[in-house]
Amino acid sequence: MKVAIMGAGMSGLSCAIALEKQGVTPSIFENRGCVGDRFVNAESMFHVFNSPVKDCLHYLNEEYGIALKPVAEVRKIVIHSKNETGSITGNIGYTNIRGRQSDSYEVQLSNQVKSRIEFNSKYEYEELCKNYDAVVLATGDSDYASHLGNFRNDLSCTVHGATIEGIFETDTPHVWFDYEVLPKGYGWVIPYSDKEANIVMLYPDYPSITKMDINEMWSKYYTLAEKDLNQSFRITDKFEVTRYMVGICNKPKLDNTYFVGNCFGAISPGLGFGQFTSILTGIYSALDICGLGKYEDLVKPLFANYDHSLIFRRFLENLKDTDLDLAVKNLNVKLIKQFIDKACNKDSKLQLLKDTTPLMAIFNQFKKSRE
Ligand SMILES: Cc1cc2nc3c(=O)[nH]c(=O)nc-3n(C[C@H](O)[C@H](O)[C@H](O)COP(=O)(O)OP(=O)(O)OC[C@H]3O[C@@H](n4cnc5c(N)ncnc54)[C@H](O)[C@@H]3O)c2cc1C
Repeated sequence: MKVAIMGAGMSGLSCAIALEKQGVTPSIFENRGCVGDRFVNAESMFHVFNSPVKDCLHYLNEEYGIALKPVAEVRKIVIHSKNETGSITGNIGYTNIRGRQSDSYEVQLSNQVKSRIEFNSKYEYEELCKNYDAVVLATGDSDYASHLGNFRNDLSCTVHGATIEGIFETDTPHVWFDYEVLPKGYGWVIPYSDKEANIVMLYPDYPSITKMDINEMWSKYYTLAEKDLNQSFRITDKFEVTRYMVGICNKPKLDNTYFVGNCFGAISPGLGFGQFTSILTGIYSALDICGLGKYEDLVKPLFANYDHSLIFRRFLENLKDTDLDLAVKNLNVKLIKQFIDKACNKDSKLQLLKDTTPLMAIFNQFKKSRE
């Protein structure tokens, strides 16, 4: 069986590892010069968004023999709204590095791959289709799926980010939901270490937002983060991602082409998490190729997760700063905090997103009816 994997990122490399475990050696094509040849940024995986899986990294290791070492186990997330600050505590998830550093997740995955990776590849998808029995599309974007008429786009976003030096608690990321500063968007500070972190802001590309002065938005957000963390940062690197498409494929597999990672629709619309789904889709495509499962069936829960997350996104966009303040303020009410902490903990039996989206959907409908 000749298998081509297009893209040596999270999903493509996970697919390669899973194939090799079944004795299949794929040909991997990467258009960049090496694995992770892109900006460095910090990302996270939170258990609550991947339930019923309880601990994402433990699960990948136990079930599929894929080992990933995070930067830190997240013990606390500090949530900032316009006028309130609250937190969620417990065993919440992990943070990790992406990009060209030697401990980034893509480099860690590539160290587990034995097959040769052809770098600086210029191969087009159509050529690979002619020469291989199966093609795994793992290019990290929806371009090919869109060209094939196989992608529904729900949202386009812009991300601005920077690496900053300062003083951080490695196990404590911060998130901002302040629509006066970041309309319908959010910001994160995720530490790489106690001296370095990643600061990002993300906003949807709605005309009402893109026509704003984005430099001023960044500057306001940056100043707010410095104020809330009570320090001045020093920027050492900057990046920008434009037209980041959030959507999902109509069919996860067309003939012998598998759509994995962002080509599948791994990015959750709610808060933009996609790493775990990218790894899973890579593994699931390999299982199908090796006759150990049906890709369409394996990804069904991922389609459902995406739908819940899209409702969550619309819900977030329907909130006002006063609603966000109230929600964050409630995190300081003992019983509510205990419940939320428990629900976000890796031992939680609740599927928070799945269980709460029916109510969010009613709220969204109500808001729509009043437009
Ligand atoms: C700024 C930012 C922050 C994020 N934060 C988080 C987070 O905190 N948590 C989370 O879970 N997710 C996060 N995500 C989403 C997550 O990073 C993605 O969902 C995930 O990396 C997608 O994996 P992938 O395999 O589809 O793509 P990638 O890992 O991006 O890999 C795609 C690979 O394909 C290669 N490629 C592209 N075109 C071609 C071609 N034509 N031929 C050959 N190779 C090609 C690329 O060079 C790349 O190596 C974030 C995304 C961004 C942009």
